[in-house]
Amino acid sequence: MKFKDMQYLRPDFDDIISRGRELVKSVAKAESFKKSLDSYMLLDTLEKDVATAVTLCHIRTSIDTNDEFYKAEMDYLNEQIPRVQEISNLIAHAVVEGDYKEDYKNKFGQYFIDKHEVSLSTFAPEIIEDLVEENKLSTEYGNLMASAKIEFEGETHNLSGMEPFMQSTDREMRKKANFAMWGWIAAKQVELDEIYDKLVKVRHNMARKLGFENFIPLAYARMGRTDWNAEDAKIYREQIANSVVPFAQKLYLEQAQRLGVDDMKNYDYNLEFLSGNPKPLGDEKYLVDKALNMYSELSSETKEFFEMMVNRELMDLSTKPGKRGGGFCTTISNYGVPFIFSNFNGTSGDVDVLTHEAGHAFNGYMQRDVSPEALSDYTMEVAEIHSMSMEFFTHPWMEGFFGEDSEKYYYAHVSSAIKFLPYGASIDEFQEWVYTNPEATPKERRNKYREIEKKYLPHLDYDGMEYLENGGRWQKQSHVYSMPFYYLDYTISQICAFQYFVWDMKEHGAAWENYMHCVKRAGFVPFKELIKECGLKSPFEEGCIDSVLPGLEKFIASLDKNKIV
Ligand code: ZN
Repeated sequence: MKFKDMQYLRPDFDDIISRGRELVKSVAKAESFKKSLDSYMLLDTLEKDVATAVTLCHIRTSIDTNDEFYKAEMDYLNEQIPRVQEISNLIAHAVVEGDYKEDYKNKFGQYFIDKHEVSLSTFAPEIIEDLVEENKLSTEYGNLMASAKIEFEGETHNLSGMEPFMQSTDREMRKKANFAMWGWIAAKQVELDEIYDKLVKVRHNMARKLGFENFIPLAYARMGRTDWNAEDAKIYREQIANSVVPFAQKLYLEQAQRLGVDDMKNYDYNLEFLSGNPKPLGDEKYLVDKALNMYSELSSETKEFFEMMVNRELMDLSTKPGKRGGGFCTTISNYGVPFIFSNFNGTSGDVDVLTHEAGHAFNGYMQRDVSPEALSDYTMEVAEIHSMSMEFFTHPWMEGFFGEDSEKYYYAHVSSAIKFLPYGASIDEFQEWVYTNPEATPKERRNKYREIEKKYLPHLDYDGMEYLENGGRWQKQSHVYSMPFYYLDYTISQICAFQYFVWDMKEHGAAWENYMHCVKRAGFVPFKELIKECGLKSPFEEGCIDSVLPGLEKFIASLDKNKIV
């Protein structure tokens, strides 16, 4: 069945809620485990029906924001969804506190129980008002940043509209754009401080009400992290500080030489190549054809997967009028298929969609028969391994996408991933300090960030821009406001993906086989156990990062520097 033929059915929420409540009772107390499990699976079906409707509606309004029918349906669903969340919470209670906890554990594994338990620890009715407040503040931040109107070069731009100027090959232009953009943010400092201050306090309060010492363990629980904690994160970040920072500094030096600038300022780092960023050779049709060929050569599973994506029209890739911006990958539960949404714009980002988002989609497809859904629920640092590793497994085909520019692509891909790690660690270390010291003033927070920044990004010279000199950069990072402690996940997955990359260059067969295991087993066991099963070293183990860097260094050294200009 093609995407266009998939039927949207508006869920009957009253019926779902009343049936849900009954079923939950029999999950907790039934004559037998079999009866309890039957009820659990029926609840799973109800949740899948709702999820399918929401996903179909979301995709269709995203493709055509002017579609009145789906627009109205989306409003309706957004209103109703919180009601279903009550049922999810009751299910967790029924499994964990009901008569059959042991049986569920024996059937689905310890992690299944842990996931339900950790989700319960994040909620109590006493925090409902705080959650509303948190959500309101986070929206306020989003609205404030989206309201940016920057007068520049005779036109008005929003924040992302400033990007092309920030990457200009003309240094004066980069500098002016940088001062204009950060100048706008600096002018909002009081508001940004106020929103963040309130967020920190409301989060700390919630944590205390739920019995946590501070917000950090609550944040970890909200991320579903059951098997690693802030101590692990600390060991991990130290490896980045000790090993990745010096490596990244070398890459920044190479960048300075490439650009011919000997007093690099922060705005110079936005430009990688004087000859421009690597560009794909064609439009959607060209790139999808190349991807079809690539995935059919990579493995029989990827061949089947990608042919299906094309034949069943499960990708909407090009920009068109009325289409929402951005991109995502999602799964349409009842049809057992993923869907990729994006806005191709002729940059290397188009190819990333066909490798990164396709990596997510591939995992969704390989787990299409996993039931109940809670079994295949996994944390973000696991999800991004699937996608980021696929970016590397597909390296051998990149010439088809980039032609002459492929050396530049390889260089940019690997070096930017390395350069990202210290920044990611700085954001995490900052947040850890913030929530350990919830009473700190905005000025103290800024001082702390600048101190941490100097540890991870010692090369940054802000050219007299006071706001950044004083430690304001994190205020542009939306995750700090809206998704606390999420940021480190990207870096952890990156370290895992690097391991597959280095392994793949040596022994493709073994690396791919282990990656396939990672794709299929995600959600069955927690992060640390999963990567152990999949032949990877834990990033939390000392020495892990040191073991992967030489392979990356060797790869970068093997590239033709004459083509990287
Ligand atoms: Zn991703």
